[in-house]
Amino acid sequence: MQRQSAAWVKSGATVGFVPTMGALHEGHLALIRRARRECRRVVVSIYVNPAQFGPKEDLGRYPRPRARDLALCRGAGADLVFAPGNLYEADHSTWVEETERSQGRDGASRPGHFRGVATVVLKLFNLVLPAKAYFGQKDAQQVDVIARMVRDLNVPVEIVVVPTVRDRDGVALSSRNAYLSVAERHVAVQFAVALQVAVNSARPAATLKKLLARINSLKTDYITQVGDRLCAAVQVGKTRLIDNELVK
Ligand code: AMP
Repeated sequence: MQRQSAAWVKSGATVGFVPTMGALHEGHLALIRRARRECRRVVVSIYVNPAQFGPKEDLGRYPRPRARDLALCRGAGADLVFAPGNLYEADHSTWVEETERSQGRDGASRPGHFRGVATVVLKLFNLVLPAKAYFGQKDAQQVDVIARMVRDLNVPVEIVVVPTVRDRDGVALSSRNAYLSVAERHVAVQFAVALQVAVNSARPAATLKKLLARINSLKTDYITQVGDRLCAAVQVGKTRLIDNELVK
């Protein structure tokens, strides 16, 4: 990967990079298409990064529809898909830890998650050598952590944030939506609707809290306003959903 990218960089090509865990959907494709428009070469990585999963999380059952993913990458205009089997030596012992923006929200609910994310993203940057890397606004805290890491460590990559892509019913696209039963999907729609109502209200966080409390078979993990963005995570059955939206 590094040899190929170094050759592209040497030839003067801008390399755009879209890191993913696969099970691609229109949200990922929006990132790839944006990179396609802005860069001469587009690399997509597909790697279910063990370091960002907790011991009781869904690493084992995370969907891995490889052939379909490759077809989607080709259709969206990727030049190269980097899908390593494993990125860690058995005695890997170096970690990237952002200590401010990784606090609270998912950082509180998923200890070690952002250390795993920051570490793999820096490893991938060093392999792919991108000028620009594309991340989804849906994972707002991830964007915050990566942007801070890039600034603090002088990583020569421009971070581009792409708006959240939603299904027609308002639900933010996520690979984890595949876990939802028909009944749970209905709950996910209620979560999305509540978020929209809340950001248009006078007291977004309080409104969302009240609305989510009314939804059966949904457990609120957190509701936090960060700057002008209302962020929330909920548990629907065994599936954890996160979403965020600008307050109006
Ligand atoms: P993942 O495969 O879940 O790690 O996501 C890979 C990238 O796609 C991350 O930058 C995500 O923020 C982004 N992404 C995931 N879902 C969406 C969505 N619905 N809209 C926009 N970007 C997304």
